[in-house]
Amino acid sequence: MPKRALADRSLQISLLSKRLHEILISDDFWRNIEFLTNERNIERLSEEDRIVVERLKKDVEKARKIPADFIERLSKAEALSYSAWEIAKKRSKFDIFLPHLKEIVELKREYCSYINLEGHIYNNLLDDYEEGMRYEKLKPAFEYLREKLSKLLDKLESEERINIKLSVRSQERLSHIILRYLGLKKDRFRIDLSEHPFTTRLSTFDVRITTRYLKENPLSSLFSTMHEAGHAIYELNLPKGKFRYTVISDAPSLGLHESQSRFWENIIGRSYSFWRFFYPILKKVEPRFEADIEDIYRYVNTIRRSLIRTEADEVSYNLHIVLRFEIETELIENRIEAKDLPEIWNEKMEEIIGIRPKSDREGILQDMHWSTGDFGYFPSYTIGNIYSAQQLYALRRDIEDMDSKVEHGDFNEIKDWLVRNIHRYGRMYTSEDIMKMCCGEGLNPQIFVRYLENKFLQRKFTI
Ligand SMILES: [Zn+2]
Repeated sequence: MPKRALADRSLQISLLSKRLHEILISDDFWRNIEFLTNERNIERLSEEDRIVVERLKKDVEKARKIPADFIERLSKAEALSYSAWEIAKKRSKFDIFLPHLKEIVELKREYCSYINLEGHIYNNLLDDYEEGMRYEKLKPAFEYLREKLSKLLDKLESEERINIKLSVRSQERLSHIILRYLGLKKDRFRIDLSEHPFTTRLSTFDVRITTRYLKENPLSSLFSTMHEAGHAIYELNLPKGKFRYTVISDAPSLGLHESQSRFWENIIGRSYSFWRFFYPILKKVEPRFEADIEDIYRYVNTIRRSLIRTEADEVSYNLHIVLRFEIETELIENRIEAKDLPEIWNEKMEEIIGIRPKSDREGILQDMHWSTGDFGYFPSYTIGNIYSAQQLYALRRDIEDMDSKVEHGDFNEIKDWLVRNIHRYGRMYTSEDIMKMCCGEGLNPQIFVRYLENKFLQRKFTI
């Protein structure tokens, strides 16, 4: 969108956010919800209506804790802070972003005081992305990952550089082929190009994704297409019918959503079975392609320390999240100050991942999330990774011969399992409850570490 319209756009957005919030928390609306949920009436509702109304009541109860003028102040500050971050990153100068970040942290602390959940202050932020998840549970899980994954990274780090070349045209063809195998049909779905790949749903019959084709990183388009396809399959299979346009027709958390994208991108897309299926297709699309299947498998599973989260591999990615989790919790606790962040970031980076950024651009300024007020968001990436590994083992339990299905590009049964056990519930339950129903337990980082150890140390895909 036009760059110079930013100030106007942020005014428009903050006005709309405020209006939406006012409607949501209006006494009129609340009276109707209370009327529907009183003892006499709730009995008379159909099961489906009751699920919707009770869910809505929870959402509105939470929204009513926050004053409308706060929403306006926050969204205005976020819009300005985002554009300051963009400039700061371009010039690699943290000082440009600092006053905005300070303000956002203050506003987020104010937000926590309105929501006021039990336990750690961070719970108030976490709950917006991962309802029901608590700092008290996440902290030990992340400490465990920090220890285990650092060791794994030491063992697996590779110096090998494999060179792979694919024309943009071939990349595009491969993206379209994999979408066909994943069953994404044009009557409800489309794919376009953008700088940063994303998924958006306009309705459950209109889900769109984007991808990007990079000459210097030829398989990144395939993986980002598979990643976004995972989000899209979820969106397309959310509750419809009576639940259409209701609060139920959505994912219960970002972590569960991310588990679906990571499932297709990493668990399937970086597996050996997948490449037995996809390598011949790749050879057909680009006959002069030189690397063999072993090379490709090693190439897509190269483990290497990197400064940038979005370029990280399956193992070290989560260490990048641990780093952000530690910093943002201390920031919100007021134990550290925003002005010290570049130094704190670099220190921690060296401690956890073993390399030190040379500039703010590849350090503290690399992600936009904090500039848009998304504190409590980062953990959902790792929660998604953990959940996706747990789903893999549940799938292996329920589907006979899963590997040979993947080797033949037959993803139907796997997709059906995900729809049946996860997608179709929408927001009827929390993520933890959905995971308990299909995998027998909630978040379990040990399963994820076991998946990585089996895959990378023993090249085994069973538990
Ligand atoms: Zn994603």
